[in-house]
Amino acid sequence: MPATLAPYIGRFAPSPTGPLHLGSLCSALASYLDARSNGGRWLLRIENLDPPREQVGADHRIIQSLRAHRLLWDGDIVWQSQRLGAYQQALEQLLDQQQAFYCSCSRAQLAEHGGLHRDHCVAPLQKGDAAVRLRASNQPYCFRDRLLGHQQQTPSSGGDVVLRRRDGLFAYQLAVVVDDADSEVSDIVRGSDLLDSTAWQLQLQDSLGYPRPNYLHLPLLTDSSGDKLSKRSYAPALDDSCAEDNIRRVLRYLNQATPPTTSDLDSLLRWAAAHWQVSAIPRHAIAVN
Ligand code: GLU
Repeated sequence: MPATLAPYIGRFAPSPTGPLHLGSLCSALASYLDARSNGGRWLLRIENLDPPREQVGADHRIIQSLRAHRLLWDGDIVWQSQRLGAYQQALEQLLDQQQAFYCSCSRAQLAEHGGLHRDHCVAPLQKGDAAVRLRASNQPYCFRDRLLGHQQQTPSSGGDVVLRRRDGLFAYQLAVVVDDADSEVSDIVRGSDLLDSTAWQLQLQDSLGYPRPNYLHLPLLTDSSGDKLSKRSYAPALDDSCAEDNIRRVLRYLNQATPPTTSDLDSLLRWAAAHWQVSAIPRHAIAVN
């Protein structure tokens, strides 16, 4: 049964900080299969907003890996670096509505106030040199995660999150909300390292008048020491020449059925979409070896 009212639009939104690894393949594959099993579209957005953290060429390697795994997206790729005008407009709306504020405080100063600084920040004279932060609400936000069930989070418990950094770069929290709304994404399937960001994103959606998508947060894949597989922990890059093995491996981690044999990757993916079962996905971190 479809998870949402039609039309279903899903997406995969990698940051090009390194090549895809098994953990990012897990998000790509799960969001792809969830979209296809709901007869939906699946979009690709490259979240290249933070050049200092990016790795040269990682964007094209990611695209190549997705192609090698036959995870083929619909429509044009969205590049966040080309969407700065949309983020600026949203930021101005939030500033006008006084739901965002300029802040020139250091991390240490913020930490003294649990990350909440609105009443302590001396309004900077030079706005150009200040970050813009969300005035995080202290009202609880509730949502039903499609895997994890009822969730309640209060945006202010994570602090007044930054929306545009002091160096002028737009932050993930703002960009993700603006882009998902502009692309009319109905269903977000992503790793549970982003679960705690959801409250800020729900607040931003409400403030900007956007509809609320459905969420499904996937278990993280961890290495033998229990750390999340990530580019930062030097998770090995996917070997594109073993695409079928990689996909079968991730399907097993996600506790999904796998067909004994298939003639090619496209039929494997079609089979996996037809047998996709959200309720079978483990709810806790999965150690991979
Ligand atoms: N760009 C984020 C990442 O690579 C994912 C953002 C999202 O799915 O909301 O971790």
